[in-house]
Amino acid sequence: MEAPAKVRTITHWIAGKADAHDAKRFGDIFDPARGEVQARVPFADSETIDRAVSAARAAFPAWSATPLGKRAEVLFTFRALLKEHAGQFAQIVSSEHGKIVSDAEGEVARALEVVDFACSLTHQMKGEFSENVSTQIDTYSLRQPLGVCAGITPFNFPMMVPAWMFAIAIACGNTFILKPSERDPSASMLVAELWERAGLPAGVFNVVHGDKAAVDALLTHPGVSAVSFVGSTPIAQYIYATAAANGKRVQALGGAKNHMVVMPDADFDAAADALVSAAYGSAGQRCMAISAAVTVGDAGDAVMQRVKSRIGTLKIGPGFDRGNDMGPVVTPAARDRILDYIDQGERAGATLLADGRALRVNGYENGFFIGPTLFDHVSPNMSIYRDEIFGPVLVNVRAGSLDDALAILRANPYGNGTSIFTRSGAAARKFQSEVDAGMVGVNVPIPVPVGYYSFGGWKASLFGDLHIYGEDGFRFYTRGKVITSRWHDSNAGVNLGFPTHK
Ligand code: NAD
Repeated sequence: MEAPAKVRTITHWIAGKADAHDAKRFGDIFDPARGEVQARVPFADSETIDRAVSAARAAFPAWSATPLGKRAEVLFTFRALLKEHAGQFAQIVSSEHGKIVSDAEGEVARALEVVDFACSLTHQMKGEFSENVSTQIDTYSLRQPLGVCAGITPFNFPMMVPAWMFAIAIACGNTFILKPSERDPSASMLVAELWERAGLPAGVFNVVHGDKAAVDALLTHPGVSAVSFVGSTPIAQYIYATAAANGKRVQALGGAKNHMVVMPDADFDAAADALVSAAYGSAGQRCMAISAAVTVGDAGDAVMQRVKSRIGTLKIGPGFDRGNDMGPVVTPAARDRILDYIDQGERAGATLLADGRALRVNGYENGFFIGPTLFDHVSPNMSIYRDEIFGPVLVNVRAGSLDDALAILRANPYGNGTSIFTRSGAAARKFQSEVDAGMVGVNVPIPVPVGYYSFGGWKASLFGDLHIYGEDGFRFYTRGKVITSRWHDSNAGVNLGFPTHK
């Protein structure tokens, strides 16, 4: 789709100011409800990336040497500004992503939670001290920042996911370059302005826009020390391998197929409410969306009938109207991909209980809307089960027992989040202990951990060893140094033996 000549063009943010250098390539930012291009975003080339890395490197010595208390003060001021602008962030996110404003407000609240945690940097940056590990010898450890850290983020949480990274990285004393999703990059620009107003020195937080070319320039730049990525699994794998091959510390969070197991003893109404909310919220474009139900025994019919009747009550329309439950998907390409999956599910013989393909929203006929879609009697070899569809499509697989359900989950390549609905403590305990996933809910459908824990999946949902934010975040964005020191007045003399604890 061609951008109209007069649409707004957003800029990069480098060294504390908007950077409007001429770009050779641009991307379209849609208004997903109207199906129109509303702005365009410049795609950085390696020269622009080099400028951003130089700015971030120049800012590193002073920021990393800034006393912890002063860094915390900037974080606290930034947090207050984020809160003050929460409504504006929600509007921006909703207008470019398409999600309902109230849903976007939830995203902003979860971003704030991580900034809250980052404000505890004076505590998190403490080292250890052991007095007298040998005669008059003390050993202690320090955590020091890495240098320039880069963050590459997905479209579905344009405010929250970048905050998972930059809040902790900057708290640790690093400088940061954010490459947000090219589909909804404007929230990042407001973040940059607020950091500046909070007193963060120029060059500590930078934003560059772009696609693969910009990402590759970051991954191979010798001035970048660490890379955090959140996005789809094939790209996560690529980022993990390429950043590591270029000598960088890297964590790469990938895609998901999150399962919710419903046991025959569950509260079926609560389970159906949870399934509908977790499958269709944000039009299914959440990495923690439930996209596969696994109903055990009698739960199958009871839950499917309840989910189907709830789908009939959902209101679908533009995200700025708070009366709506679900907005459009993000781009025409996403809409076409999801519609194709629904066709595939039908052809494969799954039972289509609700079909969102024909939905049209009055007054928004060009919007990228798809109605909530529900498939029952889905088998694990069907593409609608195997692949991450990332749209408002829920599939139900029937299982005979909890062991069968666990075997289905174990065979799935993803392991981000999962949940179980049951009234049995024994079933819940077995599930949480045996399931292969990084985040588990018990009678909770979207178990996104609070900011002072950490977020991360298993298997194809995360490449790297440390999860994102929480204490793992402080570990990822610092490196350890252990010092062994002796201060005494007499000289012990020459000793060629290996040091021991004497
Ligand atoms: P995506 O992988 O297409 O893009 C993510 C980022 O990678 C963007 O900044 C994009 O510009 C960049 N990118 C895209 N193609 C690239 C390439 N070939 N080389 C280098 N960089 C490239 O993901 P998306 O569509 O923006 O987001 C949706 C995906 O993100 C889903 O798979 C979802 O599950 C996943 N996600 C995961 C988590 C998590 O915590 N595990 C959280 C949110 C989203």
